[in-house]
Amino acid sequence: MQRCRKRSLPFLAFTLVFTASAALAAETISLNVDATKTQEKLLRSHEVIPVKPGPLTLYYPKWIPGEHGPNGPIGSVTGLKFEGNGKVIPWQRDLLDVFTFHLDIPEGVTQLDAKFDFIEPDGNSASDKLMVLEWNDVVLYPADPIATQQSFEAKITLPEGWKYGTPLPIEHASGNEIKFKPISLDLLVDSPIIAGEFYRAIDITPPGEPIHHELDLVADSEIALNISADNQREMTNLVAESGKLFGARHYRDYHFLLTLSDHVAHFGLEHHESNDSRLPERALISPGSGMSLGGLLAHEFVHSWNGKFRRPADLTVPYYEQPMEDDLLWGYEGLTDYLGPMLAARSGLWSPEEYHEYLASIAASLGPGRPGRTWRPLLDTASAVPGLSGGGPGGRGWFTWKRGTDYYDEGDLLWLEVATIIHRESKGQKSIDDFCQSFHGGANNGPEVKTYTFDELVASLNAIAPFDWATFLHTRLDSTAPEAPTGGIENGGWKVTFSGEPSKLGGRRGTPSDIYSIGLQLGADGTVGDSIVGGPAFEAGITSGMKVIGVSGRVYTHELLEDAIKGAKDSKLPISLIVVNDDFINTSTINYHGGSRYPHLVRDDAKPDYIDDLIKARAASK
Ligand SMILES: [Zn+2]
Repeated sequence: MQRCRKRSLPFLAFTLVFTASAALAAETISLNVDATKTQEKLLRSHEVIPVKPGPLTLYYPKWIPGEHGPNGPIGSVTGLKFEGNGKVIPWQRDLLDVFTFHLDIPEGVTQLDAKFDFIEPDGNSASDKLMVLEWNDVVLYPADPIATQQSFEAKITLPEGWKYGTPLPIEHASGNEIKFKPISLDLLVDSPIIAGEFYRAIDITPPGEPIHHELDLVADSEIALNISADNQREMTNLVAESGKLFGARHYRDYHFLLTLSDHVAHFGLEHHESNDSRLPERALISPGSGMSLGGLLAHEFVHSWNGKFRRPADLTVPYYEQPMEDDLLWGYEGLTDYLGPMLAARSGLWSPEEYHEYLASIAASLGPGRPGRTWRPLLDTASAVPGLSGGGPGGRGWFTWKRGTDYYDEGDLLWLEVATIIHRESKGQKSIDDFCQSFHGGANNGPEVKTYTFDELVASLNAIAPFDWATFLHTRLDSTAPEAPTGGIENGGWKVTFSGEPSKLGGRRGTPSDIYSIGLQLGADGTVGDSIVGGPAFEAGITSGMKVIGVSGRVYTHELLEDAIKGAKDSKLPISLIVVNDDFINTSTINYHGGSRYPHLVRDDAKPDYIDDLIKARAASK
């Protein structure tokens, strides 16, 4: 991905508050998506676009909301054809932008037929039994007016017998054809569909809550839909707790669209009235299901308030061709990443112990586990996203030295510290909840965007608890100190320590790792995922991309390595590893005698326990 040259477009002056009710200025474009071949990984798009004779520019969505970068899957667009009055109209791609197409509409043509195929990128959004449709994949749109003023009338044909969930208002549905009510382009792109052979909708509206909330599940098997009664109750609690935290909602109804498959990419994408979340097929029927739901769905849900409703001004663009500027992602993503786990714990999806272990794991990963912070400030991890998302070209390995999207995890620590400062400076009179109610509150006008700048964010914090927030935030954002900012944990009455006891977290964060002992993250087969620059293994010549094949004269297993690390603690002998580099075999000796080390949170009895106060349930629906 290349970052676009920053452009000063006249659109920048457009009104930065817009709503679902904005007048639709353009004639309606009809969009017909044939998804009957989705099992073969093919979607067919047919648009009928009202046009006038003369030059016409059409765009394929490039800067995708929630992805914060120019990631539109243009390489998947094939079979592109335009016709008017039954005659082919030639097209040319823009020489400077592959997302832009130029046509010359002949005299007498008032409707343009635009057809193309979208080839599902490998392992992304479809399996033999299900699909997720993000509309930006299947739409071309004219250069003007802006997205809120373009009207689309969408239709989809699903494979026979498939069921579906979506926040899109439906005009009528018959058989496998669904016609949606006319909607603006921005809301269409904001309203995905999940569909599949195995589908289940679960009402998770808390008692007394006037707005409908629904958990829509599609899975690769019937059994994978079997969410436990506990998880259903905790998801209902999550909705109730969000009401207590924000005191307002900014949607007509809300759909958690959850796809359970081992054949789709696993991530979440936020929308105003839904989220598109994707977990492994057995996520709901395996131990740690609450951890998985709380870790992903709570985060994406919070985005409805923080990211979709309140959005940094320079991440708010009038259409998908205009570049976004990502310097406030520590607000957009960072605050969301703090509030999501907090709500997961308040709702019971996470236990207090799991929340403590989570905080310990991110504090450790950002301190001793992140030498890259000594050269790259937190702010740069956000600003560089359009060109360096996921570590940039050749992004695998060296992650702890390069740094990646640390504005998520470090945002957790930053905003926890903000929460404790609000508590301290207001002498216990105000909390992060007061900030959320003031910053994210207001009338429910449906999906709406209210932008903010750094200065406006500082002013909002000041209105809750007067403090030099600008200096505090700049200090955290510009720091190149090696230590993680653990002030929030310490203000909250806890400390990060290391012991030989592995983390109790399930899933990725609890995966056994030797990163805090010998400084190595190894895959199951011994491949070096990362080696801490300056750490014991690095000093012994082991770096990312090599492969450990032997430990103490035996074929590598992780258990043998753990044994060797423990054994070296009471010995003067080094740890001996056999390592493959390209196709050369070397012996590395690591002089490390500190034993296994895993991060944990322990109470500091000298201070009140404010962290556990912050994660106590507020809503009485347990
Ligand atoms: Zn997010």
